[in-house]
Amino acid sequence: MRKCLFYLPVFFLTVFFSAFLSGFFPDFLSGRPLFAHERCYVKWVNDGDTIVLADGRHIRYIGINAPEIDHENKKAEFFGYTAKKYNKRLVLSKTVRLEFDKETHDRYGRILAYVFLNNGVFVNKVMIEKGYAYCLSRRPNNKYDQVLLQSQRDAMSAKRGIWRNWKEKKARYWGNRRSKRFHYSICAFGKKITRENKIVFLRKWDAFWAGYAPCKKCMAGEK
Ligand SMILES: [Zn+2]
Repeated sequence: MRKCLFYLPVFFLTVFFSAFLSGFFPDFLSGRPLFAHERCYVKWVNDGDTIVLADGRHIRYIGINAPEIDHENKKAEFFGYTAKKYNKRLVLSKTVRLEFDKETHDRYGRILAYVFLNNGVFVNKVMIEKGYAYCLSRRPNNKYDQVLLQSQRDAMSAKRGIWRNWKEKKARYWGNRRSKRFHYSICAFGKKITRENKIVFLRKWDAFWAGYAPCKKCMAGEK
């Protein structure tokens, strides 16, 4: 019994300090899921916004979308391989810190994360800043939307990466304030936008500047 009285406090102190050291408390106090930060080794880079960890888990960067590389029967998009190459340079064979938002997985079973290098570099943000990806806001994972949009505006102003040699078609685009997507006015999804949520853009550039991302259906493959 006496032995037990000794071990109990030791047990609790150990638990407390390991939790403290693992950064558990700040997240606990803010109501976020437990162990909201993780350190992991990157063994593979799929493209500009997806990586694979040493334990086989697939990570999809939150808040950004990089141009696609070749997959299935689809051809690579403009800047797809450049984005992949740059992402590789940033994270391949490195230990990164993952930070999560409200949803931890997407519908393909990939883990949704903000990725940070050991020196604090915010990878999702750098991909946008360099013009290798654009903002893809998706509720409820909006923690860094404003930060990412500011970086996108910097990249646009400096005409980096995908923003270089920008061309506009003569068209009208309908944005959805709720989903933060924009469509050609002929798109079925665009037609469903309610009047309160609809915003008209006369240039794609303006839609991107406002933080809207192109609809995957009506603008597939376009930037
Ligand atoms: Zn559309």
